[in-house]
Amino acid sequence: MEYAAGDLCPVCESGKLEENVKNLELEYKERKSIVENITCFDCPVCGESYTNRKESRAIEKFLTDERRREDGLLVSNEIKSIRKKLAVTQVQFARAFRVGEKNFARYENGQTTQGAAMDCLLRVLREHPEAFKLFHDNWNDVGEQKVYQFKFYYKRKKAIEKRSKTNVDYNLSKCVL
Ligand SMILES: [Zn+2]
Repeated sequence: MEYAAGDLCPVCESGKLEENVKNLELEYKERKSIVENITCFDCPVCGESYTNRKESRAIEKFLTDERRREDGLLVSNEIKSIRKKLAVTQVQFARAFRVGEKNFARYENGQTTQGAAMDCLLRVLREHPEAFKLFHDNWNDVGEQKVYQFKFYYKRKKAIEKRSKTNVDYNLSKCVL
């Protein structure tokens, strides 16, 4: 939902929203920080404050990066610059890491925080960009997705063959987890 000055407040349904540009103070663990010049729509009756999608995204990215700094992880722009240095798209980068195709878009816009293992791999690539060839040597010449699908299919086929040969009766209800 997009808000504008004069809209009826959706919470109390009696106040008319007023547009204000504010600096918001945010806190994570011990770290306090201020995100500047955020356009908010405030209700003078109940005091509720709203932001539009663009501002909400900016706040989200800012917050994610603040949390990453506090936790010792790479921030959005650092991840982006590692990728740019290797001259690959977000999708190509994700395929090289065998992760979801949208993962890097999400890391770079602050929607998601990378895990510690991914963070380590990115740091290795930042120091040793030549190591990137190890990520995609086997399937660079063919359609990447096709090779990946084929590998998956082959693995599955092998597993099924193996299972039918040994003829083990898997009874899940008898398994103790
Ligand atoms: Zn209100």
